[in-house]
Amino acid sequence: MSSTPQHVVSSAHISNFIRSIIEADLANGKHNGIVTRFPPEPNGYLHIGHAKSICLNFGLAQDYRGKCNLRFDDTNPEKESEEYAQSIQDDVRWLGFQWAGEVRWASDYFEQLYQFAVELINKGLAYVDDLTPEQMREYRGTLTQAGKNSPYRDRPTAENIDLFARMRAGEFADGSRVLRAKIDMAAPNINLRDPAIYRIRRAHHIRTGDKWCIYPMYDYTHCISDALEEITHSICTLEFEDHRPLYDWVLDNITIPCHPRQYEFSRLELHYTITSKRKLLQLVNEKHVSGWDDPRMPTISGMRKRGYTPEGIREFAKRIGVSKSENTVDMAIMEGVIREDLEVRAPRVVAVINPLKVTITNFDGAQAREADFHPQHPEFGKRLVPISRELFIEADDFAEMPPPGWKRLTLGGEVRLRHSYVMRCDEAMKDAESKIVELRCSIDHDTLGKNPEGRKVKGVIHFLSREHALSAEIRLYDRLFTVPEPDADKDVDFCKYLNPASLTVVQGWVESSVRDAAPETRYQFERLGYFCTDRLDHCPSGALVFNRTVTLKDSWAKEAGSS
Ligand code: ATP
Ligand code: MG
Repeated sequence: MSSTPQHVVSSAHISNFIRSIIEADLANGKHNGIVTRFPPEPNGYLHIGHAKSICLNFGLAQDYRGKCNLRFDDTNPEKESEEYAQSIQDDVRWLGFQWAGEVRWASDYFEQLYQFAVELINKGLAYVDDLTPEQMREYRGTLTQAGKNSPYRDRPTAENIDLFARMRAGEFADGSRVLRAKIDMAAPNINLRDPAIYRIRRAHHIRTGDKWCIYPMYDYTHCISDALEEITHSICTLEFEDHRPLYDWVLDNITIPCHPRQYEFSRLELHYTITSKRKLLQLVNEKHVSGWDDPRMPTISGMRKRGYTPEGIREFAKRIGVSKSENTVDMAIMEGVIREDLEVRAPRVVAVINPLKVTITNFDGAQAREADFHPQHPEFGKRLVPISRELFIEADDFAEMPPPGWKRLTLGGEVRLRHSYVMRCDEAMKDAESKIVELRCSIDHDTLGKNPEGRKVKGVIHFLSREHALSAEIRLYDRLFTVPEPDADKDVDFCKYLNPASLTVVQGWVESSVRDAAPETRYQFERLGYFCTDRLDHCPSGALVFNRTVTLKDSWAKEAGSS
């Protein structure tokens, strides 16, 4: 591969400091091509923050015709599972990316990692420590105080080699010894105060089973895995900035030809939700949500079930950008991008979620009219909009005592039925509790496809013909939390801020054209919002189940503004 600008395939990107570094590295011949990686730990489902990292790493590889590996950082066996590993692969693919070659696992390198540790011991750069975890903490010092050397720090090499082999062989109890890098107990950066690089842990591992009872630590594993895979740009979030000297120290002190460079960017924090696998797990375990893929979760699988599109999520990642400064984004930005994407993608159909019955008293065989599924996309096709004696309209499209400026239906008033006739309300029928249960209306038969004679009718409402409509379960999802930063206060459980109205399930009506919709089909329900047939619970021609993806307008901004 040459290092001319032809590496740049897509022009529709916003530049950032990482792209600048890559472009310089390609231009000056430091690299002929780039290799990045996305390195999740399979200890939970991926969330929107990971989506940012995925779009960055895979997106760079695409744009510069390089490669991006998917590597599981599987060094904490107790927390990891095959289910998580599978879901992560599904999510990456659903987002529209494919990793280079096979999925990789840090555990594939356990033997090499062990041999590199032996090399460090032989060079006098690692030692087995018998201090207890409490003593180790005590010896480590503080930000303002240097640490002190462990009494085991100067063990002879032969003894270290022997002890490390016996750690591997399972001779010692869990937690009784660790292997530590011998760097500097007085280093201002605490990460360099002889960090542990191996610990004893008898835990069943999803890949290696019971083969190992010692496991390498993340910092030690990550840099070596990157080097073994010849990663050129190892991109991670800012909390690893202070770990970079350790990343470099390990690679500088073992015999390995490749030394990837680590670059850090700021984590995405999304308001009105949380981006921490641990806390998302708590929501699942405490059953505040139906699972990791609950449509209210900020997980990729949750967003998918809710009806978000991969294109929308990728566009969101592009717009929020990549930098080192704080990246806190309001949910309204995310929702706005999804709305924009669905606006052009989703056919428009009619549903009634809070039905009020209408009887047309002068009905004598009115006509169905053809209507486009999308005003700007004739290729989406058309369908007939039938009308009959009984209709459903939205209950809140009628007001007995209309507020000023009301354009919808009221007693004696007229509205246009969307794609159909002009209708006047003549009478409101009430039950014993004075609740309106039915409207008696009449249509002007001379208004199909044309304006009424001698008067203007401003309001348009949607409706369904009762005999043609299909019953559907409609799940109205809203934000999961009521405050922008539910986990801001460490002393308050974030669950306290769960939105009690985050899910309302209603039995509503939809037009018959959606009868055969496959799972994960997206629609705009006119005037109501964007909806998606549920991935799992929706059954074409059977039980119809729709999830609300997002409303048509941002109702949260209004509320915040008026309070
Ligand atoms: P969590 O804190 O939710 O457990 P993590 O960082 O521990 O996340 P990993 O599986 O280790 O999760 O992350 C894989 C990659 O995704 C890492 O490179 C990490 O930096 C990146 N990542 C995780 N969270 C975010 C975020 N909020 N914004 C951007 N990138 C993120
Ligand atoms: Mg992590």
